[in-house]
Amino acid sequence: MSNLLAAVRPGRHGVATERSGWSAIVGALVACSFLVACEQPADTAEPAAEAADPFAGVEITSTHVAGAIHVLEGRGGNIGLSVGSDGVLMVDDQFAPLADRITAAIESLGGALPAYVLNTHYHGDHTGGNPIFGANGVVVAHENVRVRLVSSGMAPAGLPVVTYDDGIQLHFNGERIDISHLPNGHTDGDSVVWFRNANVIHLGDHFFNGRFPYVDVPSGGSVDGLIANLEGVLEMLPADTRIIPGHGALATVGDLRAYVTVVRESQAMVRDAVAGGTIGDLERDGFGQWEDWGSGFISTERWIAIVRESDAVAANAAAEPAAEDAP
Ligand SMILES: [Zn+2]
Repeated sequence: MSNLLAAVRPGRHGVATERSGWSAIVGALVACSFLVACEQPADTAEPAAEAADPFAGVEITSTHVAGAIHVLEGRGGNIGLSVGSDGVLMVDDQFAPLADRITAAIESLGGALPAYVLNTHYHGDHTGGNPIFGANGVVVAHENVRVRLVSSGMAPAGLPVVTYDDGIQLHFNGERIDISHLPNGHTDGDSVVWFRNANVIHLGDHFFNGRFPYVDVPSGGSVDGLIANLEGVLEMLPADTRIIPGHGALATVGDLRAYVTVVRESQAMVRDAVAGGTIGDLERDGFGQWEDWGSGFISTERWIAIVRESDAVAANAAAEPAAEDAP
């Protein structure tokens, strides 16, 4: 299978540049932009002395996953690394102020500055280090990532040099690395990176392990799309694949399956409550057995708002004749 998601569902690859009024309002409330990181850590209530440098206490930890693959955790999205005889390939790069600490962590694994930097999507907690690492290595990303980084004001050194539509393969450190675009899920420019030999996949922010996900609807994200994309991934993955989520701990295929179930079933609860006029009850009472999935960055209330925002945008799109359907 040369392209992981080619068989999953057709993509809408254009970058939406207009927002409906409703979407824009919710988008402003659910601020997850290039500047405001996709994940605000749970420990944002830091002492005043640290307020001037939100990264002051951040340490980068590394964990070996399999073969040449490691994961680095600090603040922001999880970083995947391949370290070997060809050099270093990095998946996502957190924030620029952490670049020295990330580099030190790579060096402690016997590596040096990355030859390749892959971006799973454009959010600032995954691409903030691009201007630093992109000055040495080649940044690779979906074409919509480049479009959004340009419009966000990313420094030229941090822009993707190699872009693709459906996907691309790299051959590095003895690995075949399949990079596959997932259409309209977390954003409209997400990719997953599958190290085929080590059997490790980085799912970016399609996967918040053990938490409700952030779905950036104003940036082309969709809850339905995220579910469909991950169901396609689950059909493809061997049962023993190790999974690096965008946020949260290293995961198994079983963890991913449980997450997809929670996302799908909690979405159904929101839709039932909207249809039945009981959304206020759901907001007050929460999701019962999954209530602790609403801790941290995406609260129960915020997840409900995201599901409704995604459905509202889908309903608007269905009500308007799509330009691409015009003769
Ligand atoms: Zn994100």
